[in-house]
Amino acid sequence: MKRKFLSGSTAFVVCLLVLVMSTGCTADRQGPVEPTTTIQPAITPGEDSYTTVLDAGTLDARLDEYPAGTLSAAEMSDLGYLQEEEKLARDVYGVFYATWGMQVFRNIGNAEQTHMDSVTVLIDRYGLASSENNPAGVFEHPELQDLYDNLVESGLQSPEDAIRAAALVEETDIVDLRDALGRTDNADIRYVYENLMRGSENHLRAFVRNLEGQGESYAPVVLSQDDYAAILSTPVRPGGFS
Ligand code: MN
Ligand code: MN
Repeated sequence: MKRKFLSGSTAFVVCLLVLVMSTGCTADRQGPVEPTTTIQPAITPGEDSYTTVLDAGTLDARLDEYPAGTLSAAEMSDLGYLQEEEKLARDVYGVFYATWGMQVFRNIGNAEQTHMDSVTVLIDRYGLASSENNPAGVFEHPELQDLYDNLVESGLQSPEDAIRAAALVEETDIVDLRDALGRTDNADIRYVYENLMRGSENHLRAFVRNLEGQGESYAPVVLSQDDYAAILSTPVRPGGFS
């Protein structure tokens, strides 16, 4: 009898605790302030699965398997350029998220930070100059500064324009990574670039699907129609250094 009474009152206390705790949680849920926006564009179901986060810490460990080679002048300048290009993606999506409050820009912007960090691992490995600490929206390469300025100007027109500008960022990444892969035979660099490439292809798919989810369509700007169609018809491929 006594045991039964005790377990009954224990259950009551647990219920009370759960009630108090859940009330507390609800009250706390005011937390982070979201950017103000009146527009809530559609999020494609499963869009998170397109976001390709790379772990620079794991990369550091994996690089033990890839001896550092010697770099040509082209390999050096490509590393500096691609580090800034990943920064450009991060910075552009940061502006778009702050402006439009669309989750896709926050998720993919966070992934771009990890892409930039991955290139920074290589930059540090070879003792090259790094732009990782430059302020957002500021670029060493004049062509990337122009590209950033134009993309931001266009993406501030509307959420759809922002998604189109983002798809163009990803197209540009794919073309530049492809060119850089054609100029390097170093296994460590190829390993990173191939992961960045998978990330850019996944992100391009995400942005195009997002537009399509809003009843819009996208046509490639810098990729050939064939290359673009091949990427869009391929399922998401996970990237990662594990
Ligand atoms: Mn990227
Ligand atoms: Mn990307």
